[in-house]
Amino acid sequence: MNANEPDELIACHECDALFKKRELPNRTSAKCPRCGSLLYRSISSNLDKICAMTLAALVTFVIAQAFPIVELDANGLTSDTTLIGAIVALWNEQMEVMAVLVFCSTILFPLCELIALLYVLLPLRAGHVPPGFNGLLRMIQFVRPWGMIEVFMLGVLVTLVKMVSIARVIPEAALFAFGALTLMFAVVVSFDPRALWDIASRLGPREVARRDGAPPVPTDARQKS
Ligand SMILES: [Zn+2]
Repeated sequence: MNANEPDELIACHECDALFKKRELPNRTSAKCPRCGSLLYRSISSNLDKICAMTLAALVTFVIAQAFPIVELDANGLTSDTTLIGAIVALWNEQMEVMAVLVFCSTILFPLCELIALLYVLLPLRAGHVPPGFNGLLRMIQFVRPWGMIEVFMLGVLVTLVKMVSIARVIPEAALFAFGALTLMFAVVVSFDPRALWDIASRLGPREVARRDGAPPVPTDARQKS
C-alpha cells in the first residue's frame, strides 16, 4: 500500500472483526481468518466482464420493452401486448397503484440501475471518475432491491401455463428477451457496486471528493495516517 494512502479498514459482515484492506492480485479473494466468510474480491479483472454484461442487458431490456410478450388466440380472436401496453391496461382498469408498482419494479428501477452502472463503469474503465460518482453509487444500491424482473418473469410463466387451457398462447420476442434479461440481471446484481469505490479511490481519492463538492483531504492529514 502507498505510504500516502490512508489505511482502509474493512469489517467482516459475519463476525464484525476489523481488518486492514489491501489490494489483491487478480482473481483472488480475501477471507476472514476468524470465521472464514468472504470479505472482498479483487475487482480489476471483472470490470470488463461486468461492463459488457451491463451493455448487453441494456440492449436486451430495450428489445423486451419494444416487442409484444405473448400473442393469445381464443376462438380466432387474437391479441398481443407489450409490457407498457399491459401497464396502460391496468391503469385504464382503475388499478392505478398496481400500474405504478409494475412500472417502477419492471421498467423504471432496472433501467435506472443499468444506465447508472454504465455511466459509472465506462469512465472508470477509461481511468477517470465521472461527476456525481458517489451519489450514483448510493442510488444504485437504493434501487437494486426494487428491480423485480425475475418476479415479473415468474408471474408471466405461471399465467401462461394457466392460459394454455383457454387460449392458444404464442410466445413472442419479448418473452425470450425477458428470459435472457433475468439471467443477465442475475450476473449484474452479483457485482458489488462497493468494489467501484475501491477502483475510484485507487484512481485518486481527492478527485472523488473534489467532483462531489466535499472538502478535499488535507495533505498533512493524509501523510500522518
Ligand atoms: Zn468473520
